[in-house]
Amino acid sequence: MRLVILGATGSIGQSAFSVWQQHQDRVTIEGLVAHRNAERLWDMGCRMGAAWVALTDASAAADLERATRGRPGPEVIGGREAVRLRLAEAEATHVLAAMSGFAGLEPTLVALQRGMTVLLANKETLVAAGEVIVRALRAPGGGRIIPVDSEHSAIFQCLAGRQPFRRLILTCSGGPFRGWSRDALKDVTVEQALKHPNWQMGPKITIDSATLMNKGLEIIEAHYLFNVDYDAIDVVIHPESIVHSLVEFVDGATLAQCGYPDMRVPIQVALSWPERWSLDIPSFQWPGRTLHFEEPDLETFRLLALARQAGKAGHLYPCVLNAANEVAVEGFLARRLGFLEIAEVVEATLNAFAASNTEPDLSEVMAADAWARQFARERIAAEVR
Ligand code: MG
Repeated sequence: MRLVILGATGSIGQSAFSVWQQHQDRVTIEGLVAHRNAERLWDMGCRMGAAWVALTDASAAADLERATRGRPGPEVIGGREAVRLRLAEAEATHVLAAMSGFAGLEPTLVALQRGMTVLLANKETLVAAGEVIVRALRAPGGGRIIPVDSEHSAIFQCLAGRQPFRRLILTCSGGPFRGWSRDALKDVTVEQALKHPNWQMGPKITIDSATLMNKGLEIIEAHYLFNVDYDAIDVVIHPESIVHSLVEFVDGATLAQCGYPDMRVPIQVALSWPERWSLDIPSFQWPGRTLHFEEPDLETFRLLALARQAGKAGHLYPCVLNAANEVAVEGFLARRLGFLEIAEVVEATLNAFAASNTEPDLSEVMAADAWARQFARERIAAEVR
Protein backbone atom coordinates (compact mmCIF):
# COMPACT_ATOMS: atom_id res chain seq x y z
CA MET A 1 0.00 0.00 0.00
CA ARG A 2 0.99 3.62 -0.51
CA LEU A 3 0.36 5.86 2.48
CA VAL A 4 0.09 9.59 3.13
CA ILE A 5 0.17 10.68 6.78
CA LEU A 6 -1.64 13.90 7.73
CA GLY A 7 -0.38 15.11 11.11
CA ALA A 8 2.88 13.16 10.80
CA THR A 9 4.74 14.92 13.60
CA GLY A 10 1.99 14.59 16.24
CA SER A 11 1.42 11.80 18.69
CA ILE A 12 -0.45 9.49 16.25
CA GLY A 13 2.08 10.25 13.51
CA GLN A 14 4.90 9.15 15.82
CA SER A 15 3.08 5.91 16.65
CA ALA A 16 2.52 5.38 12.92
CA PHE A 17 6.26 5.83 12.37
CA SER A 18 6.90 3.09 14.89
CA VAL A 19 4.40 0.77 13.14
CA TRP A 20 5.97 1.58 9.76
CA GLN A 21 9.45 0.67 11.08
CA GLN A 22 8.20 -2.89 11.60
CA HIS A 23 6.42 -3.14 8.24
CA GLN A 24 8.57 -1.23 5.76
CA ASP A 25 8.18 -4.05 3.26
CA ARG A 26 4.40 -3.59 3.25
CA VAL A 27 3.90 0.17 3.55
CA THR A 28 5.39 2.70 1.11
CA ILE A 29 5.28 6.29 2.34
CA GLU A 30 4.24 8.70 -0.42
CA GLY A 31 3.92 11.92 1.58
CA LEU A 32 3.93 13.37 5.08
CA VAL A 33 2.00 16.46 6.16
CA ALA A 34 2.51 18.49 9.33
CA HIS A 35 1.59 21.98 10.46
CA ARG A 36 4.95 23.63 11.19
CA ASN A 37 7.30 21.18 12.92
CA ALA A 38 9.80 21.38 10.04
CA GLU A 39 12.77 19.67 11.64
CA ARG A 40 10.92 16.53 12.69
CA LEU A 41 9.00 16.37 9.41
CA TRP A 42 12.18 16.55 7.32
CA ASP A 43 13.86 13.91 9.48
CA MET A 44 10.85 11.58 9.18
CA GLY A 45 10.56 12.22 5.45
CA CYS A 46 14.20 11.23 4.90
CA ARG A 47 14.02 8.16 7.14
CA MET A 48 10.74 6.93 5.66
CA GLY A 49 11.78 7.59 2.05
CA ALA A 50 8.80 9.87 1.39
CA ALA A 51 8.47 11.39 -2.09
CA TRP A 52 7.31 14.67 -0.58
CA VAL A 53 6.77 16.40 2.75
CA ALA A 54 4.38 19.31 3.31
CA LEU A 55 3.89 21.96 5.98
CA THR A 56 0.48 23.62 6.03
CA ASP A 57 2.22 26.71 7.43
CA ALA A 58 3.54 28.13 4.13
CA SER A 59 6.27 30.31 5.64
CA ALA A 60 7.65 27.42 7.69
CA ALA A 61 7.66 25.39 4.46
CA ALA A 62 9.55 28.14 2.61
CA ASP A 63 12.19 28.16 5.38
CA LEU A 64 12.51 24.38 5.22
CA GLU A 65 12.78 24.45 1.43
CA ARG A 66 15.62 26.99 1.63
CA ALA A 67 17.42 25.10 4.38
CA THR A 68 17.34 21.77 2.55
CA ARG A 69 17.81 22.97 -1.06
CA GLY A 70 20.22 20.74 -2.94
CA ARG A 71 20.18 18.04 -0.26
CA PRO A 72 18.97 14.52 -1.03
CA GLY A 73 15.51 13.94 0.41
CA PRO A 74 11.83 14.55 -0.22
CA GLU A 75 10.36 17.46 -2.17
CA VAL A 76 9.10 20.20 0.17
CA ILE A 77 5.71 21.79 -0.40
CA GLY A 78 3.84 24.37 1.66
CA GLY A 79 0.38 25.77 2.37
CA ARG A 80 -3.02 24.17 2.79
CA GLU A 81 -4.06 24.64 -0.82
CA ALA A 82 -0.84 22.99 -2.06
CA VAL A 83 -1.51 20.04 0.25
CA ARG A 84 -5.05 19.74 -1.10
CA LEU A 85 -3.83 19.81 -4.71
CA ARG A 86 -1.08 17.26 -4.02
CA LEU A 87 -3.56 14.90 -2.37
CA ALA A 88 -5.93 15.33 -5.32
CA GLU A 89 -3.26 13.87 -7.62
CA ALA A 90 -1.58 11.49 -5.17
CA GLU A 91 -1.27 7.80 -6.04
CA ALA A 92 -1.71 6.82 -2.39
CA THR A 93 -4.18 4.05 -1.57
CA HIS A 94 -4.38 4.99 2.12
CA VAL A 95 -4.38 8.24 4.10
CA LEU A 96 -3.85 8.34 7.84
CA ALA A 97 -5.87 11.39 8.95
CA ALA A 98 -4.25 12.37 12.23
CA MET A 99 -4.25 16.16 12.12
CA SER A 100 -5.67 17.77 15.22
CA GLY A 101 -9.03 19.53 14.99
CA PHE A 102 -11.10 20.97 12.16
CA ALA A 103 -8.02 21.43 9.92
CA GLY A 104 -8.27 17.75 9.01
CA LEU A 105 -11.63 18.11 7.25
CA GLU A 106 -10.66 19.28 3.76
CA PRO A 107 -7.81 16.84 3.13
CA THR A 108 -9.95 13.97 4.48
CA LEU A 109 -12.74 14.85 2.06
CA VAL A 110 -10.34 15.00 -0.87
CA ALA A 111 -8.99 11.55 0.02
CA LEU A 112 -12.51 10.09 0.23
CA GLN A 113 -13.53 11.70 -3.05
CA ARG A 114 -10.45 10.09 -4.64
CA GLY A 115 -11.66 6.69 -3.43
CA MET A 116 -8.84 6.23 -0.91
CA THR A 117 -9.10 4.37 2.36
CA VAL A 118 -8.98 6.91 5.19
CA LEU A 119 -7.60 5.66 8.48
CA LEU A 120 -9.40 8.19 10.65
CA ALA A 121 -7.77 9.38 13.85
CA ASN A 122 -9.18 12.91 13.51
CA LYS A 123 -12.61 12.67 15.13
CA GLU A 124 -13.29 16.41 14.78
CA THR A 125 -13.68 15.88 11.04
CA LEU A 126 -16.56 13.48 11.49
CA VAL A 127 -18.14 15.51 14.28
CA ALA A 128 -18.06 18.80 12.39
CA ALA A 129 -19.07 17.48 9.00
CA GLY A 130 -20.60 14.06 9.62
CA GLU A 131 -23.30 14.39 6.99
CA VAL A 132 -20.91 15.74 4.36
CA ILE A 133 -18.48 12.89 5.03
CA VAL A 134 -21.24 10.27 4.92
CA ARG A 135 -22.35 11.64 1.52
CA ALA A 136 -18.75 11.42 0.26
CA LEU A 137 -18.59 7.81 1.46
CA ARG A 138 -21.81 6.89 -0.32
CA ALA A 139 -20.98 8.66 -3.58
CA PRO A 140 -19.98 6.39 -6.50
CA GLY A 141 -16.24 5.76 -6.33
CA GLY A 142 -16.08 7.18 -2.81
CA GLY A 143 -13.51 5.81 -0.41
CA ARG A 144 -14.00 4.17 2.95
CA ILE A 145 -13.11 4.95 6.54
CA ILE A 146 -11.43 2.61 8.98
CA PRO A 147 -11.41 4.11 12.49
CA VAL A 148 -8.16 4.60 14.38
CA ASP A 149 -9.66 6.14 17.51
CA SER A 150 -9.07 3.31 20.00
CA GLU A 151 -12.74 2.94 21.05
CA HIS A 152 -14.02 2.93 17.49
CA SER A 153 -11.28 0.58 16.39
CA ALA A 154 -12.42 -1.75 19.19
CA ILE A 155 -16.03 -1.58 17.99
CA PHE A 156 -14.94 -2.02 14.36
CA GLN A 157 -12.97 -5.14 15.34
CA CYS A 158 -15.84 -6.55 17.46
CA LEU A 159 -18.38 -5.95 14.68
CA ALA A 160 -16.17 -7.11 11.83
CA GLY A 161 -19.22 -6.65 9.61
CA ARG A 162 -21.56 -8.59 11.93
CA GLN A 163 -25.08 -7.29 12.59
CA PRO A 164 -27.52 -6.73 14.19
CA PHE A 165 -26.35 -5.31 17.50
CA ARG A 166 -28.36 -3.89 20.39
CA ARG A 167 -25.92 -1.22 21.54
CA LEU A 168 -22.37 0.04 21.39
CA ILE A 169 -20.61 0.67 24.69
CA LEU A 170 -17.78 3.21 24.60
CA THR A 171 -15.36 2.91 27.49
CA CYS A 172 -13.94 6.06 29.03
CA SER A 173 -11.01 6.29 31.46
CA GLY A 174 -12.69 9.20 33.27
CA GLY A 175 -9.51 11.27 32.86
CA PRO A 176 -7.44 12.80 35.65
CA PHE A 177 -10.48 14.22 37.49
CA ARG A 178 -12.62 11.12 37.82
CA GLY A 179 -14.60 11.32 41.08
CA TRP A 180 -13.93 15.05 41.57
CA SER A 181 -16.75 17.48 42.48
CA ARG A 182 -17.57 20.64 40.51
CA ASP A 183 -16.29 22.65 43.44
CA ALA A 184 -12.91 20.91 43.35
CA LEU A 185 -12.70 21.43 39.56
CA LYS A 186 -13.03 25.23 39.76
CA ASP A 187 -9.34 25.89 40.29
CA VAL A 188 -7.83 23.05 38.28
CA THR A 189 -4.59 24.09 36.55
CA VAL A 190 -3.49 23.42 32.97
CA GLU A 191 -0.71 21.17 34.29
CA GLN A 192 -3.19 19.02 36.26
CA ALA A 193 -5.50 18.73 33.26
CA LEU A 194 -2.61 17.70 31.00
CA LYS A 195 -1.75 14.67 33.14
CA HIS A 196 -3.77 11.84 31.64
CA PRO A 197 -3.57 8.67 33.74
CA ASN A 198 -3.30 6.13 30.88
CA TRP A 199 -2.62 7.69 27.48
CA GLN A 200 0.18 9.93 26.15
CA MET A 201 -1.51 12.28 23.66
CA GLY A 202 -1.43 15.81 22.25
CA PRO A 203 -2.67 18.75 24.39
CA LYS A 204 -6.09 19.27 22.70
CA ILE A 205 -7.27 15.67 23.14
CA THR A 206 -5.78 15.47 26.63
CA ILE A 207 -7.86 18.44 27.80
CA ASP A 208 -10.90 16.92 26.04
CA SER A 209 -10.25 13.72 28.00
CA ALA A 210 -10.16 15.68 31.27
CA THR A 211 -13.52 17.40 30.54
CA LEU A 212 -14.98 14.16 29.05
CA MET A 213 -15.70 16.14 25.87
CA ASN A 214 -13.49 13.59 24.14
CA LYS A 215 -16.08 10.91 24.93
CA GLY A 216 -18.87 13.24 23.84
CA LEU A 217 -17.17 13.74 20.47
CA GLU A 218 -16.69 9.98 20.28
CA ILE A 219 -20.45 9.40 20.72
CA ILE A 220 -21.04 11.57 17.65
CA GLU A 221 -18.15 9.88 15.83
CA ALA A 222 -19.70 6.46 16.55
CA HIS A 223 -23.10 7.66 15.33
CA TYR A 224 -21.68 8.51 11.90
CA LEU A 225 -19.15 5.68 11.62
CA PHE A 226 -21.55 2.88 12.48
CA ASN A 227 -24.83 4.50 11.40
CA VAL A 228 -26.38 3.97 14.83
CA ASP A 229 -28.96 5.93 16.86
CA TYR A 230 -27.70 7.98 19.78
CA ASP A 231 -29.89 5.99 22.17
CA ALA A 232 -27.96 2.84 21.25
CA ILE A 233 -24.58 4.34 22.19
CA ASP A 234 -23.70 4.09 25.89
CA VAL A 235 -20.67 5.31 27.80
CA VAL A 236 -19.17 3.48 30.76
CA ILE A 237 -16.29 4.73 32.89
CA HIS A 238 -13.45 2.20 32.94
CA PRO A 239 -10.42 3.70 34.68
CA GLU A 240 -7.90 1.01 33.66
CA SER A 241 -8.31 1.59 29.86
CA ILE A 242 -7.86 -2.12 29.15
CA VAL A 243 -11.29 -2.81 27.61
CA HIS A 244 -11.25 -0.43 24.65
CA SER A 245 -15.00 -0.70 23.93
CA LEU A 246 -17.75 -3.28 23.54
CA VAL A 247 -20.58 -4.36 21.26
CA GLU A 248 -23.73 -5.97 22.66
CA PHE A 249 -25.46 -8.01 19.97
CA VAL A 250 -29.24 -8.61 19.81
CA ASP A 251 -28.84 -12.05 21.42
CA GLY A 252 -27.24 -10.50 24.51
CA ALA A 253 -23.72 -11.68 23.64
CA THR A 254 -21.20 -8.91 24.27
CA LEU A 255 -17.82 -8.74 22.56
CA ALA A 256 -15.00 -6.58 23.86
CA GLN A 257 -11.58 -5.72 22.51
CA CYS A 258 -8.88 -5.55 25.18
CA GLY A 259 -5.19 -4.87 25.57
CA TYR A 260 -2.61 -2.42 26.81
CA PRO A 261 -3.43 1.18 25.89
CA ASP A 262 -1.06 1.65 22.93
CA MET A 263 -2.14 3.56 19.81
CA ARG A 264 0.15 1.46 17.63
CA VAL A 265 -2.47 -1.32 17.82
CA PRO A 266 -5.45 0.56 16.31
CA ILE A 267 -3.14 2.19 13.74
CA GLN A 268 -1.80 -1.17 12.64
CA VAL A 269 -5.24 -2.83 12.70
CA ALA A 270 -6.48 -0.10 10.35
CA LEU A 271 -3.45 -0.49 8.06
CA SER A 272 -3.57 -4.28 7.91
CA TRP A 273 -7.37 -4.82 7.96
CA PRO A 274 -8.77 -7.41 7.33
CA GLU A 275 -5.38 -9.11 7.85
CA ARG A 276 -3.45 -9.15 11.11
CA TRP A 277 0.24 -8.33 11.15
CA SER A 278 2.51 -9.06 14.09
CA LEU A 279 3.57 -6.21 16.38
CA ASP A 280 6.14 -6.26 19.18
CA ILE A 281 3.69 -5.68 22.01
CA PRO A 282 4.03 -7.93 25.08
CA SER A 283 1.24 -10.39 25.87
CA PHE A 284 -1.32 -8.96 28.25
CA GLN A 285 -0.98 -10.18 31.83
CA TRP A 286 -4.45 -11.17 33.09
CA PRO A 287 -3.72 -12.75 36.49
CA GLY A 288 -4.08 -10.29 39.34
CA ARG A 289 -6.02 -7.77 37.21
CA THR A 290 -9.11 -6.04 38.56
CA LEU A 291 -11.15 -4.01 36.09
CA HIS A 292 -13.72 -1.43 37.19
CA PHE A 293 -16.80 -0.02 35.45
CA GLU A 294 -19.00 2.85 36.64
CA GLU A 295 -21.58 5.39 35.46
CA PRO A 296 -20.25 8.70 34.13
CA ASP A 297 -21.05 11.80 36.25
CA LEU A 298 -23.00 13.93 33.77
CA GLU A 299 -23.68 16.72 36.28
CA THR A 300 -20.01 17.40 36.89
CA PHE A 301 -18.81 16.70 33.36
CA ARG A 302 -21.42 18.78 31.53
CA LEU A 303 -19.74 18.51 28.15
CA LEU A 304 -20.49 14.82 27.85
CA ALA A 305 -24.23 15.55 28.15
CA LEU A 306 -23.98 18.61 25.88
CA ALA A 307 -22.26 16.62 23.17
CA ARG A 308 -24.96 13.98 23.18
CA GLN A 309 -27.63 16.71 22.98
CA ALA A 310 -25.83 18.41 20.09
CA GLY A 311 -25.51 15.07 18.32
CA LYS A 312 -29.21 14.35 18.69
CA ALA A 313 -30.10 17.86 17.52
CA GLY A 314 -28.03 17.04 14.42
CA HIS A 315 -27.70 19.47 11.51
CA LEU A 316 -24.81 21.86 12.28
CA TYR A 317 -25.04 21.59 16.07
CA PRO A 318 -22.17 19.08 16.32
CA CYS A 319 -20.07 21.42 14.16
CA VAL A 320 -20.84 24.36 16.47
CA LEU A 321 -20.13 22.22 19.54
CA ASN A 322 -16.77 21.19 18.14
CA ALA A 323 -15.71 24.69 17.08
CA ALA A 324 -16.68 26.31 20.39
CA ASN A 325 -14.84 23.55 22.22
CA GLU A 326 -11.66 23.99 20.17
CA VAL A 327 -11.66 27.71 20.97
CA ALA A 328 -12.46 27.16 24.65
CA VAL A 329 -9.71 24.54 25.02
CA GLU A 330 -7.22 26.95 23.42
CA GLY A 331 -8.43 29.59 25.90
CA PHE A 332 -7.95 27.21 28.82
CA LEU A 333 -4.46 26.19 27.64
CA ALA A 334 -3.60 29.91 27.33
CA ARG A 335 -4.89 30.36 30.91
CA ARG A 336 -7.56 32.77 29.76
CA LEU A 337 -10.44 30.82 31.23
CA GLY A 338 -11.05 28.27 33.95
CA PHE A 339 -11.62 24.56 33.54
CA LEU A 340 -15.39 24.64 34.19
CA GLU A 341 -15.79 27.64 31.88
CA ILE A 342 -14.89 25.46 28.88
CA ALA A 343 -18.38 23.92 29.17
CA GLU A 344 -19.98 27.34 29.78
CA VAL A 345 -18.51 28.73 26.55
CA VAL A 346 -19.63 25.68 24.57
CA GLU A 347 -23.15 25.76 26.00
CA ALA A 348 -23.55 29.51 25.39
CA THR A 349 -22.40 29.07 21.79
CA LEU A 350 -24.82 26.19 21.18
CA ASN A 351 -27.68 28.20 22.69
CA ALA A 352 -26.93 31.21 20.47
CA PHE A 353 -26.78 29.18 17.24
CA ALA A 354 -29.74 29.47 14.91
CA ALA A 355 -29.94 26.40 12.68
CA SER A 356 -31.60 26.37 9.30
CA ASN A 357 -33.29 23.17 8.20
CA THR A 358 -31.42 22.46 5.00
CA GLU A 359 -29.02 19.55 4.62
CA PRO A 360 -25.63 21.18 5.29
CA ASP A 361 -22.96 21.20 2.59
CA LEU A 362 -19.25 21.90 3.03
CA SER A 363 -19.63 25.67 2.71
CA GLU A 364 -22.31 25.72 5.42
CA VAL A 365 -20.11 23.61 7.67
CA MET A 366 -17.26 26.10 7.13
CA ALA A 367 -19.58 29.05 7.84
CA ALA A 368 -21.03 27.49 11.02
CA ASP A 369 -17.53 26.63 12.20
CA ALA A 370 -16.33 30.21 11.63
CA TRP A 371 -19.42 31.69 13.30
CA ALA A 372 -19.03 29.45 16.38
CA ARG A 373 -15.33 30.27 16.71
CA GLN A 374 -16.04 33.98 16.54
CA PHE A 375 -18.89 33.73 19.06
CA ALA A 376 -16.80 31.66 21.47
CA ARG A 377 -13.84 34.05 21.21
CA GLU A 378 -16.05 37.05 21.97
CA ARG A 379 -17.60 35.22 24.86
CA ILE A 380 -14.17 34.41 26.33
CA ALA A 381 -13.01 38.01 25.84
CA ALA A 382 -16.14 39.27 27.64
CA GLU A 383 -15.54 36.91 30.57
CA VAL A 384 -11.90 37.89 30.93
CA ARG A 385 -12.83 41.57 31.05
MG1 MG B 1 -10.55 7.59 21.80
